[in-house]
Amino acid sequence: MQIQDYISAGKIASEVRENARKKYYVGSTLLEICESIEKEIEQKTGKCAFPVNTSLNEIAAHYTAEPNDDIVVKDTDLLKIDLGVQINGYIADTAVTVCYDPKYDYLVQAAEAALREAISIIHVGTKSSDVGKIIENTVKQMGGTPIANLSGHSLEQYTIHAGKSVPNIWSIGSFSFQATEAYACEPFVTTQEGLGLVREGKIRNIFSLATRKRVKDDDANKLADFIWSKFNMLPFALRWLIPDWDEKTVRRLLEKLIQNKIVRSYPILVEANSKKVAQAEHTFIPQENGVRITTI
Ligand code: MN
Ligand code: MN
Repeated sequence: MQIQDYISAGKIASEVRENARKKYYVGSTLLEICESIEKEIEQKTGKCAFPVNTSLNEIAAHYTAEPNDDIVVKDTDLLKIDLGVQINGYIADTAVTVCYDPKYDYLVQAAEAALREAISIIHVGTKSSDVGKIIENTVKQMGGTPIANLSGHSLEQYTIHAGKSVPNIWSIGSFSFQATEAYACEPFVTTQEGLGLVREGKIRNIFSLATRKRVKDDDANKLADFIWSKFNMLPFALRWLIPDWDEKTVRRLLEKLIQNKIVRSYPILVEANSKKVAQAEHTFIPQENGVRITTI
């Protein structure tokens, strides 16, 4: 584990997140938001670990801007900005919810408080089920409902979801946090009318390479090689291919790679009762007496 790379990636991610928190995005398109944040990450000499997610309202996660996305942020929206920075494949994963409607401020506060409380009990040996319990209790005390089927995760080099789930509710089955691994904790919170679950939506605009196997199409193989050289196995957006590929061609080749299971596509995740969702997220490395939050 390269601690220094985790720390450097975390510093960039936290600066960019705090700038996003302060901005007033009403009137901006999701494309402008994604592109400006991704540009800022690169200006700070980080690489994007995944396309910036700009998930609005009942969309909890996994929406990134399409190449000509013209969706505009309104003053009634709740916008989750989830960003990732990687250095040599070591990832900082962090998120902030911006909300211009005071009615939903409590959801943002609940997600932030749950994240703070969860991280405050973690050290080497803490059980993940205790983290889920404190997140669930904090969120409920603040009048929200935790999303049960979304969770944080362990991280590995070039791997965002490395196998272990950091739960957002009390659950059976548990692991203990180790100092040799980085983790992301990310409470998602909906209203009391929400089901506290997400379902898959129709839109898929985030992709990643699933295997380095070949298909019987030279152009599709060329695209797979290009994806590997640029993004390794990390997620990417169609937007990120357009500078080098003709849009119509790349859409066709990408579809072929998806059909052949060379590329995986990620559906947006939507609150099952279509209620608004807020999120907060940090990446951290457990220590003997606490944690080192890389994205603080
Ligand atoms: Mn994230
Ligand atoms: Mn995450």
